[in-house]
Amino acid sequence: MGRVLIIGCGGVASVAIQKCCQNSEVFEEICIASRTVSKCDALKAKIENTTKTKITTAQLDADNTDEIIALINEYKPDAVLNLALPYQDLTIMDACLATKTHYIDTANYEPKDTAKFEYSWQWAYREKFKEAGITAILGSGFDPGVTSVFSAYALKHHFDEINYIDILDCNGGDHGYPFATNFNPEINIREVSAKGSYWEDGHWVETEPMEIKRVYNFDEVGEKDMYLLHHEEIESLALNIPGIKRIRFFMTFGQSYLTHLKCLENVGMTSIEPIMYEGKEIIPLQFLKAVLPDPASLGPRTVGKTNIGCIFQGKKDGKDKTYYLYNVCDHQECYKELGSQAISYTTGVPAMIGTMLVINGLWNKPGVYNLEELDPDPFMEALNKWGLPWKESFNPELVD
Ligand code: NDP
Repeated sequence: MGRVLIIGCGGVASVAIQKCCQNSEVFEEICIASRTVSKCDALKAKIENTTKTKITTAQLDADNTDEIIALINEYKPDAVLNLALPYQDLTIMDACLATKTHYIDTANYEPKDTAKFEYSWQWAYREKFKEAGITAILGSGFDPGVTSVFSAYALKHHFDEINYIDILDCNGGDHGYPFATNFNPEINIREVSAKGSYWEDGHWVETEPMEIKRVYNFDEVGEKDMYLLHHEEIESLALNIPGIKRIRFFMTFGQSYLTHLKCLENVGMTSIEPIMYEGKEIIPLQFLKAVLPDPASLGPRTVGKTNIGCIFQGKKDGKDKTYYLYNVCDHQECYKELGSQAISYTTGVPAMIGTMLVINGLWNKPGVYNLEELDPDPFMEALNKWGLPWKESFNPELVD
């Protein structure tokens, strides 16, 4: 049915690419393009004999719009799936506009020199994408992504009005290292060391990092400490869910992770301010990334499960209603299937699904969209089919 250019070949891309190759009817041809082409070639060699999807590879610096345009003009994909880093979102969107090609990503744009992520930069492309007749789907991972689809599904099928959303992201996995991150360490540490915030009564409430802690008993995982963080889907859900009064995002962290992070912060290792080291300018956080375990190497060592979902509270037929939608994913099952841990798996599968819905026309609508703005039903069906089945509960424990 289609031909897709996939940019990036890290942990998330490895899962998305293998899932595209399991779905060869839709993904007839893919080109894997990344900074280090040897990684693309190694992945191609691993999977090309197991799939009907025709795979090619290319070297690409996705910070350079002209290079991306040249590759798109040569390969002529129907869509570009951006699985590089948030820093490359705008250069890739510019290239898609110039070539009138659909665009899908999993994380919102972040400038390299400021630890700040928000949708304003990408929402600024709405009119241009509409005029060009092409679709951009923003944040087709798990959170954002599946959490956004869960919200649209809850609104469509279970509520007249949703007033409260608590997004709970629990990683009950253990990789045996005292400190490692489950996805790109630089992006992950920028996210968790930032101030927290939540949306309430029409405005943002800011908190100190890790200031708000709760304990929650997660299905199939058990009791975990979780902390309130700022997270990108809050920004779009606050606009797109009518009647919303409060949205919060909580993520679980173990004590060892937090103690190490505090220590690294205290000694300046998480800073993104450049420093001079032996006559060369380096960024401490990028140096830290170089010494930490590669998230892609955690797969064989990680045991346990993730449980990520949303608790909704609102009204149906004049009565108060509560509804919890979530997915439980087992790290070792993911490793057995694709050689990845569950964090990459839970992001890579929705990336493939969002791209599939653009290619097959179900989500093909000119403009720039967050996932909750589109019909959730085909996405929910695809989650069950492609490895992330969801569960629901009508009487969940609530977060105070
Ligand atoms: P990795 O660091 O494992 O992979 C990033 C890939 O992008 C690498 O292959 C890297 O190349 C490539 N890359 C980086 N810069 C460039 C560039 N300038 N040109 C071309 N290629 C480049 O990251 P992850 O796979 O862990 O994360 C991928 C994305 O997924 C991130 O944006 C992350 O924020 C997002 N994410 C989203 C989640 C969600 O639920 N929505 C959850 C987790 C992650 P090289 O191999 O040379 O380093």
